[in-house]
Amino acid sequence: MRISFDLDDTLICYHNGARHDPNRVWWLLRGWLHEPQRSGAGALLRELGRDHELWVYTTSYRDPRTVWWWLRCYGVRLGYVVNQYRHERTFGRRGPSKCPAQFGIHLHIDDSWGVWEENRWDRNVCVVSPHDPDWADRVRAAVACVARKEPPPVPPEVPEEYRARGWV
Ligand SMILES: [Mg+2]
Repeated sequence: MRISFDLDDTLICYHNGARHDPNRVWWLLRGWLHEPQRSGAGALLRELGRDHELWVYTTSYRDPRTVWWWLRCYGVRLGYVVNQYRHERTFGRRGPSKCPAQFGIHLHIDDSWGVWEENRWDRNVCVVSPHDPDWADRVRAAVACVARKEPPPVPPEVPEEYRARGWV
């Protein structure tokens, strides 16, 4: 299965009180790779990487090589990085902010309900809050669902307006 992860507020958290994995960036690369990895991300990605192809899908303009090497330091081999440049090359500047299905992605992990909404008919987005300490288990549960050809579970905090519109 191909699984993609958002970066900001999903794998990289800067908010007050954010917890991080110990820095495993090789010291020669520390001047270049300095972003803090969210607590639990390294273990989760290494575990999922054994059976699945892992991508990053970000609306940031980060250099894909930087992202690839950053995760490589944590023992993770990424398949591909879709950044905003690559997204725009495929979809232009209009349209959805992210479109995982068009890249053959089976499950995308993101903190954004907007991304969930854009792809609601594909049912391939799992939303995890940057404040959720159990986020990694939520991702594991979503992966298990998609592996069974079921949509990922909708979190209990789904916005009320989405329920009202019958999207859930
Ligand atoms: Mg984000």
